[in-house]
Amino acid sequence: MPISGSEIVKMLPGKKPCKDCGFPTCFAFAMKLATGGATVDKCIYLTPEVKAKLEDLLAPAIKLVTIGAGDNKVQVGNEEVIYRHEKTYVHPPGIAILISDKESEAKVNEKIKKVNELNFSWVGLTLKADLIALQFESGDKNKFLALVKKVNDSSNLGIILISEDLNVLFAARDLCADKKPLLYPITKENIDQAIPKIKEKPTPVGVRGASIEELIPLTAKLKEAGVDEAVLDPGSKNLMEAVRDQTFIRRAALKQGFRPLGYPTIAFPCFIAKDGLKEVLAASVFINKFTAVIVLSDFDQYSLLPLLVQRLNIYTDPRFPMAVEEKYYEIGTPDENAPVLITSNWALTYFIVSSAIEATKVSSFLCVKDAEGLGVLTGWAAGKFSGDSVGAMVKKSGIENKVKNKKIVIPGRVARIKGELEDALPGWEIIIGPREAAGIGAFLPEYAKSLRK
Ligand code: SF4
Repeated sequence: MPISGSEIVKMLPGKKPCKDCGFPTCFAFAMKLATGGATVDKCIYLTPEVKAKLEDLLAPAIKLVTIGAGDNKVQVGNEEVIYRHEKTYVHPPGIAILISDKESEAKVNEKIKKVNELNFSWVGLTLKADLIALQFESGDKNKFLALVKKVNDSSNLGIILISEDLNVLFAARDLCADKKPLLYPITKENIDQAIPKIKEKPTPVGVRGASIEELIPLTAKLKEAGVDEAVLDPGSKNLMEAVRDQTFIRRAALKQGFRPLGYPTIAFPCFIAKDGLKEVLAASVFINKFTAVIVLSDFDQYSLLPLLVQRLNIYTDPRFPMAVEEKYYEIGTPDENAPVLITSNWALTYFIVSSAIEATKVSSFLCVKDAEGLGVLTGWAAGKFSGDSVGAMVKKSGIENKVKNKKIVIPGRVARIKGELEDALPGWEIIIGPREAAGIGAFLPEYAKSLRK
């Protein structure tokens, strides 16, 4: 549970105030600390004990954990709410494909290629899986290490190493330590042996217990040893147990501020579910129910895309509609006789309209008016897509220097702004376009021809 500024101020030295922290009073500093706007080290008069206590109290309720490195790193945790509508979820779960060292070389190659290359363009974003989980099953250490090396050399994605044999686990870690792989599982049986090895080359670890209760002393021990990047596997045996456990862990961390469970979680639909469809359904439940890393035995475009879209929908900040930048966009290679159309900046509207234009193969200019992420009609109703404001945007955009024909196509749904827009854009002819983007295919080619006559 977050600590308040008035609780923090009781722990500060209360000097004169000296203002050495850059704030006029201790109270002002405390308020900034409580909201994350300052760091504890700005007050140099804190005793080491108070500083450590404050840092602990101010740490996120769910630890931020980074798997992988560079552009492909996956960050999970740091969530602040149980339900998305309370504020927003922050870090989408990493989705991993499992590769066992018992699988044939052809299958391994196919999976590596798939996870590297399978991606989907979706409202301006690229959706794809994030991680590769490598499982030691063959009993042949060299075979597993060869697999780790192969994946490390052929993919930039983050890696999860899975081995019950600690020697194999750490030998594999040494091959790809620079990629910060997640090491799994750390258990009550191996934790004492594992801690010194983890500290040699710090990487995140996956802690597995037979139950939630079993996880608690394990995370406490890791924290005491200075290992604080961990994800939790409560050992759920079926989907019902998994939902219960994931929910319990999230609530304990956020509602009770229970630090030993204040870590993101990992789940293995690949081990829980008995067939492909049930595995995808289980993964879908885990996306909903707080899980931070989800490991699938395999996927194809038909199973992966729905999961990625579900993840995107849940992890999009509900406080801000997805929007694109206000400006004119060139679709194809428009010249001075190309059509000019206008729409609003809700990402979905933009991508539907631009795709419809693209499909006609008519190079065009598409002006996008900032309607605060609203669709055209809603934007008009909210006063964000009025004739005046659309006219001002068109003038500001510089589009009139790009075309000879001063004609602009407005969405048919807001035909009523025509008069106002004519007043705001003297010299321009306002054309009423189709009511729906679906009508662009029939409208645009003929309209473009008329501009060139
Ligand atoms: S530096 Fe410390 S003691 Fe001085 S005003 Fe800031 S919080 Fe108070």
